[in-house]
Amino acid sequence: MVNKHFIDVSCCRLCGACLSSCPVLNYSPELARAAKDRLNRGLDIDVLDRCTTCFSCNSYCPNDCHPYELILLRWHERYLRLGLPAIARMVIPGDQSSIWSQLYPLLPSDEKDQIREWRRMEGKHGRDILLTGCFSSFSPFLAANSVLKGLTAYGDERLWCSGGHIYQLGLLDVVEKAGLRIKKVLEELKPRQVVTMMAAEHAMLTRILPEKFGININTDVITLEQWLLQQLQSGNLPLSSPVERRIAIHDNCFSKSEGDSLWRAVREIASACGADLVEMPHNRRDALCCGFGAAAGKFSLLDLIEHGSKRLKEAEQAGADCLVTYCSACYFIFSVVKELYGSRLELYHLLELVALARGDKPLHRTRQRAFQIIAIITANVLRMTFNSAARRRFHIDLSLFDRELSQDDKGTEPARLVRFFNTLYNSAAFCNAVVLGILHFTVRTIIYFRRRLSHDRYGEISVS
Ligand code: SF4
Ligand code: SF4
Repeated sequence: MVNKHFIDVSCCRLCGACLSSCPVLNYSPELARAAKDRLNRGLDIDVLDRCTTCFSCNSYCPNDCHPYELILLRWHERYLRLGLPAIARMVIPGDQSSIWSQLYPLLPSDEKDQIREWRRMEGKHGRDILLTGCFSSFSPFLAANSVLKGLTAYGDERLWCSGGHIYQLGLLDVVEKAGLRIKKVLEELKPRQVVTMMAAEHAMLTRILPEKFGININTDVITLEQWLLQQLQSGNLPLSSPVERRIAIHDNCFSKSEGDSLWRAVREIASACGADLVEMPHNRRDALCCGFGAAAGKFSLLDLIEHGSKRLKEAEQAGADCLVTYCSACYFIFSVVKELYGSRLELYHLLELVALARGDKPLHRTRQRAFQIIAIITANVLRMTFNSAARRRFHIDLSLFDRELSQDDKGTEPARLVRFFNTLYNSAAFCNAVVLGILHFTVRTIIYFRRRLSHDRYGEISVS
């Protein structure tokens, strides 16, 4: 479990730099010092409610005291005391209410086949493995891409993104279990090299699991972006169709654990694709979260939409017509928020951008997938509203990790409520300018009043 290397509060000088520089909290230096003091003593609530688990404060600390890990530790203590609210089940792999369990039956057959293939270990030993990451299973079409030729995809959401997204939620005992499981899988696969489709997995395998949990992965691991850059530089990936679009790049939370080399690689790749890059005011180490982390404090879907839409607005105001992300989780969050909020931006994963620059036509099922996920969220929220048993808080069953990973455990029939909303949201009666206009207006109005409230309470500068 959490050991003494996880965080050493005694190195904190209470200078407050971490929380006063935080792009979310908007604390004065005095407030920041007081809040950090309370956090050190386990007494703060405000930071724990409003933190978007973005990783930035680690880089603001002049003493390398890891204030971010302290927040995770406090969340972990809260989790041990209270468990998680039921809504969190949606991002718990293997749970019947999870998006994975409910999405798989809705996927087209080519993507179901892809997931089945990703889960297979036979014939993959000693290869260059593309570790897909649990959130890539929401959009397997991203990896149906000639750009990835030469890599063998392997992945399963029950590897929990090597513990990535639950690390961000502070579920530290679960992270340890997930870490031990991915270690066992990689020892069996014995890959020549692992290429991680999500920066989160690279950070987990190369830094966080060894340094914070003592779990050492004896495999060469590089990010997808490093691999792409190598392919471009060696001439293996000729690009012949410049993508003449103005793009903004969203740097994800875990990219901050990688630092400048990753941020530079992504921008080099985008430039090689012929894109015209614009930067959002919050970029690289100061980047705001996509909305996933914003829901971590209070598990509020409105926090997720509010912060996700803030980021979309920031890209629009920077003059971009496309937002490019290199994280499958950010891709899914932005796709959902875009449909609910009504952003004019097009959303691409970096892999799709490279495919376009090669002259390919990526599948880009972004909109359809977003509405499938919105159908699942609607069904879950309704169920949890009207069924008290479905609303109960819970602790994650760690015995899940003792079960073998079977290949076909994907469900076949969508739940009735999910099927109903999926049919509705994909029908002409819903997908028309009038209904979508009403939806966007309603969501924007709710978000506007939330921001006003937050501005009054915290003086937060909102992106209007
Ligand atoms: S993780 Fe991000 S949002 Fe949370 S306190 Fe640190 S800088 Fe602020
Ligand atoms: S964690 Fe670092 S930046 Fe934050 S108060 Fe302590 S010493 Fe200062």
